[in-house]
Amino acid sequence: MSATDFSSLPLTSELLQTLNDLQYSAMTPIQAQSLPAVLNGQDVIAQAKTGSGKTAAFALGILAKLDVKRFRVQSLVLCPTRELAEQVAEEIRRLGRSQHNIKVLTLCGGVPSRFQTLSLEHGAHILVGTPGRVLDHLQQERIDFSELSMLVLDEADRMLDMGFQDDLKAIISATPESRQTLLFSATYPPQIEKLAGSLMQEPLRVTVESEV
Ligand code: ADP
Ligand code: MG
Repeated sequence: MSATDFSSLPLTSELLQTLNDLQYSAMTPIQAQSLPAVLNGQDVIAQAKTGSGKTAAFALGILAKLDVKRFRVQSLVLCPTRELAEQVAEEIRRLGRSQHNIKVLTLCGGVPSRFQTLSLEHGAHILVGTPGRVLDHLQQERIDFSELSMLVLDEADRMLDMGFQDDLKAIISATPESRQTLLFSATYPPQIEKLAGSLMQEPLRVTVESEV
């Protein structure tokens, strides 16, 4: 067994089988560096270029932690755009397909709020959304984060570039302090370090340099 085998991780046999079926035969470098800590419950800041497999690094963390029998919002992933949020939700559903009845709900701008409001009333395990729309639902008291145990900021650099800093802070302040927080980014500007300092506890920092 090599250090990049998914089977070296504390994942259920169902998740390992799904990875095998999807032909994820070995961890990518950012997955190998971040997943042990993610699955150990640590806060992690992970930086690696686009296309390096960051989604599965946090999706497996979310799925490993999820208690499907508890039909409450347990994880929140924030993304800069609707397209990215939909891709992330799709990857979580794909990787989570062996755990039946996982409800992943996307909350993004550009579509009417009322359908999302109805879906929120029906309940979900995992929310994936853009900061503006998630904050909107939160302020209308349509989301309950009291059982949230995992918060993921995906493409954090782009979310800051797009001016979502205040929305992010408002959302994060509504989540339990006991949560695990993961931050993924393609670049690592100083504002990320500042944001991370205010919301993470002794994070592990992992960087995969791109070979130029
Ligand atoms: P990033 O978020 O870093 O830009 P993605 O998570 O979108 O990258 O992954 C890029 C592609 O690599 C996706 O198509 C995904 O399905 C695939 N992928 C991720 N991890 C693995 C793996 N361990 N083995 C094979 N393919 C993978
Ligand atoms: Mg990504």
